[in-house]
Amino acid sequence: MRFAEFYAGSTGPHISFEVFPPKTDAAMESLRRVLPELIELGPSYMTVTYGALGSTRERTLEIAALLKREYHMESACHLTCVGSSRADLDRLLEDIRHSGVENIVALRGDPPRGETTFVPPPDGYSHGNELVAHIRRRYGTAFGIAVAGYPEKHLEAPDRESDLRYFKNKMDAGADIAITQLFYDNADFFSFVEAARTLGVTQPIIPGLLPILSVKQVRRITSLCGSKIPAALQAELEAAGEDDNRAEEVGIRQCVAQASELLRRGVPGIHFYVLNKSSHMRRIMEQLRPVLAEVRPNAPHSTANAPH
Ligand code: FAD
Repeated sequence: MRFAEFYAGSTGPHISFEVFPPKTDAAMESLRRVLPELIELGPSYMTVTYGALGSTRERTLEIAALLKREYHMESACHLTCVGSSRADLDRLLEDIRHSGVENIVALRGDPPRGETTFVPPPDGYSHGNELVAHIRRRYGTAFGIAVAGYPEKHLEAPDRESDLRYFKNKMDAGADIAITQLFYDNADFFSFVEAARTLGVTQPIIPGLLPILSVKQVRRITSLCGSKIPAALQAELEAAGEDDNRAEEVGIRQCVAQASELLRRGVPGIHFYVLNKSSHMRRIMEQLRPVLAEVRPNAPHSTANAPH
């Protein structure tokens, strides 16, 4: 099932999970144990990120195909322009197609560590919109395609307006949906969606949420992607300090509140960056279950239309 088919129906909002391909065999084994635990939480689909140049790249398709084949879980491979010529991309796309995986999250990718500018590979692409157009040219609608959106603008973009214009180009190139970069202030997401709609973007825009598991983790990730932490949340995290259990409690509470507001305000889905762990997601999903029942009028366990 492709992205567009999920969001066209009245079965949403859809929960989706993102995992990453581990670097070591031991971590891969651990992910194999976590996958069924995540699937039990009822996501509509799961996506698998694509590494910078290196050995984990082959594992992206391995994990996405495993999800589809062994668990009948719809999945998506992330794919970037980094280090791949058009011919390389074609080989990768053929492999994805033969595996039965039907969805791709198409990205430009980040410049290699230590570099600030993205340099396109020889006979490769410079931007996400070109990769989307390439996939559509070669494969028509055989793949569902998602692209990245940035509620707080992309780090390299000189201003919000140009970033939004490029975002619109990318959607027009043939994306079915956009999934956003992580953010902690819903006002940024709503303002991004409103601006995109004003420019004429009509496709679903799915908020991407990263539950906080430790202060160190959130510091590292937000410094890489430029997302900001609201002052009240920052104060709670500072009080937690090096105590990861306490930071995780703050993270779970914050994530449930953030997701509940998004769901009640009618988002088509939520994409969780789950960091290859399931225990925090189990607690988050348990607390979101009543909210999902409230906003999914067609859900079998919905109480929305139950007599009072
Ligand atoms: P683009 O859309 O190409 O945008 C990059 C920059 O160029 C922006 O500043 C934009 O304003 C500008 N721009 C866009 N088009 C043009 C144009 N035509 N001319 C001039 N400027 C332009 N990275 C990975 O390596 N692997 C992953 O698996 C991965 N998954 C991700 C999933 C999601 C949901 C998100 C939000 C990000 C993910 N990333 C991943 C990170 C992503 O690769 C980086 O944020 C990257 O820097 C930008 O990718 P993009 O596709 O958004 O780029």
